[in-house]
Order: sequence, then C-alpha cells, then structure tokens
Amino acid sequence: KMVDALLTPSVRQTIASGMERLRADFPILDIKVGDKPLVYLDNAASSQMPQAVIDRLVHYQKTQHANIHRAVHHLSDLATQEYEAARRKLQHFIGAREEREVIFTSGTTDSINLVMHGYGRKFIQNGDEIILTALEHHSNIVPWQMLAEEKGARIRVVPINDAGELLVDEYEKLFNSRTRFVGLSHVSNALGSINPIKRMIATAHQHGVPVLIDGAQAAPHMKIDVQDLDCDFYAFSAHKMCGPTGVGILYGKAHLLESMQPFKGGGDMIASVSFEKTTYNDIPYKFEAGTPPIAAVIGFGAAIDYLEQIGLDAIAAYEHELLVYASEQIRMIPGVRIVGDCPDKVAVISFVVDGIHPHDVGTLLNQDGIAVRTGHHCAQPIMQRFNVAATSRASFSFYNTKEEIEVLVAGIRSVQKVFA
Ligand code: PLP
Repeated sequence: KMVDALLTPSVRQTIASGMERLRADFPILDIKVGDKPLVYLDNAASSQMPQAVIDRLVHYQKTQHANIHRAVHHLSDLATQEYEAARRKLQHFIGAREEREVIFTSGTTDSINLVMHGYGRKFIQNGDEIILTALEHHSNIVPWQMLAEEKGARIRVVPINDAGELLVDEYEKLFNSRTRFVGLSHVSNALGSINPIKRMIATAHQHGVPVLIDGAQAAPHMKIDVQDLDCDFYAFSAHKMCGPTGVGILYGKAHLLESMQPFKGGGDMIASVSFEKTTYNDIPYKFEAGTPPIAAVIGFGAAIDYLEQIGLDAIAAYEHELLVYASEQIRMIPGVRIVGDCPDKVAVISFVVDGIHPHDVGTLLNQDGIAVRTGHHCAQPIMQRFNVAATSRASFSFYNTKEEIEVLVAGIRSVQKVFA
C-alpha cells in the first residue's frame, strides 16, 4: 500500500517513459510477428541484444579485428587489449579475486565439460560419488554421467518438493567419505527456483568437497559474488544476458584451475612444444586453446557494461515485480497450473493448461506474437518429477512490461477458447 501511495500518476509516467527509452535500446522488440507486435518471453533460452552491444560488435569488426596474443602489429595488439579488457569486466562483474580465474569458453555447456575433463577425470575415481540435483539442466547432468560411466563413479541426486525447491536436509544426508564433487544450479531454468547455494556450498566444504555452480539462469538476473558464495567453479553464457552466442565463462579458484589438466590442446594453451615434451601455458590461457571467439568476447564485455549501467539490483527488483504480477494473473486462469510455484524464484513461469498440449499452447500463442518456450526445457528429470511430458515457459527480462503479461494472459485464455 505504501508503495502504491508513492506511485503517484507522475511517478508512474516517469517509470513508463523510462521503460519506453529502455525498450528503444533493443531494436528487435519493434518487430512484428505477422501483424502482431512481438511479445518476447523466451529470455531464459536467449535474451535480446541492445544497440550498444550490436554497435560494439560492428566497431570491432570494422576497426579492431585481428588474431590475439600472437603478433606485434597494431591491430593484433588492439584486439588483445580489448579481449583482455573484457576478461577484467567479467572478473569485476562476479567479484573474482584475480582476472586469471576467468576463462572464456563457448558457453555454460563448454564450461561444465571443461571442469568434467580437467578436474573430474583427474580427481574422480572408481567408487567415488558426485552429487547433482533434480533441478539440473541436461548440461550439468550428462557430462557427469559420461564421467561416472568411464570411471565407475556413482551419481547421487538431491530431490525436490512439489513446489520445486531442493530438499536441503536430504542433500546434507548424501555426503559420505566417497563424495568427491557437487554440481548444482544456482537457478533452475525449467522452473525458476533459486537454490540456497551459499549454504549448500558451505556444507560441501565441511566435507572437503568442491562445488561447481551452473549460473546460466542466475547471472542475468542478480548480483553474483563468487568470493562471498565461496564456490569453486561458476559457469554462465553471454547469450542469456544481452550478449552474443558462442561465448561464456568458467570462473574457477586459481589453485584448482592450476591443479587441473587442460581440456583441449592446441595453440595459445602452451608455453613450449616439442615432440618430446610440451609445457602448458599458465591459467587462464591453459584452457583457451585455439583462436577464441574474439568478437563475441568483446561483445560480452559490452553486455556487462550495459547490465551494470542499469544495475543488477534494479534488474532483480523490477523482474521480481513482473514475476509477482504474472504469477497472480496466471493463477487466476481456471484450468492453468504453474509448475514449481515457490516463493524464491527468478521471473520464470512454467505452466500447463488442462487438456491442451504445451506445443499447441506455444503454437497458438505465436499467432498472437507471443514467444514462449514449450517442451522439456533440457530438464527431462524435472518433467518426470512433476509427471508432465512438457510445459510452456514464459521467462521475463527487465525489458518486459506488465502490458506484455496482460497480452500473455489474454493469449492463454484465447487458446483455451480454441480448444473448448
Ligand atoms: N544450464 C542452464 C541452467 C541453462 O539454462 C542452460 C541453457 O539453457 C545451460 C546450462 C546451457 O547453456 P548453453 O547452451 O549456453 O551452453
């Protein structure tokens, strides 16, 4: 009520015009789907890019492009400086102690595979146990299964309750003398649940076990501080946070990265090579074999600048408002159920409509210009847990509006009418 009192018509007007200006940063939000304005609610899959990032990519390609870390000429030096400046931006963005703790990868999947190959294959042996959770994306399940199969290790899974929350007491019971690793998502991509990772990391550390956090769905929506979390590894992708595809990072504590074997061999990751013996380069280069996606890394840096200019706390607060509003509106539609309706969530709503397959929901919503994701969201174990084959998922960004939520709700109601 107090907030309502503060929101006088003129304050509302200021917010509305601020939102108009912010949306104008994203040219793609102006496109039409048929004759309908685009309502883009698939941000958990990939978010959109502001003009500042697009401009940065064009500027790089037009005036700065060359290979990095190799030549003494002007352009190579410039490209190297811009690439390393992006690494420092990422370092500050996540509060890492040192820039060499930030490794550029092709995305979250690549980062997790790097840890599996570099850490897992060296330190996890026959009979050892790896703890994962029932909320993981396939990319934080399958690499560990491949390792478990190769080594004869065992995977233990933290269960969830009906609201989509991890059962932390059950997690604590899973530790024993064979536990060697924990892989845990910060935020579930399929449901939006925010996991109590700080407490879970502390528990693992009491048992001397390192923890990898899959932060693909958290980094775009909240301030991350890897030193405060005390995680050992943290992974995320640029394309979910206003940056380009093809790039992400792996943060790792320096002493762990140093102890690991490289995942890929090739140029740049070596100090010296002979047919008798190769010596590897220092971190982070030891894990960046070959020519990296230089333009995408620099674009990622520009996306970080853009997000920081808005402020992660402001983004989190605004998106929470969208979540509350959308949840209230969707709960009011008879025959629609939100899957994983817990209080501690990012702005992701997975839902099922009685008697209508999510694929049909998505197809009909698309006719109204509304983009949602339908399917198992690369998280089939979650679908099995809730006994559904698939869901529809609306996932919001800071450039979405309450008006767009109203378009979604009207869209769901008209889908129901088509099938009535
Ligand atoms: N982990 C989570 C929680 C995700 O949501 C995603 C992407 O959907 C990934 C990992 C994989 O990210 P990428 O496809 O960018 O490697």
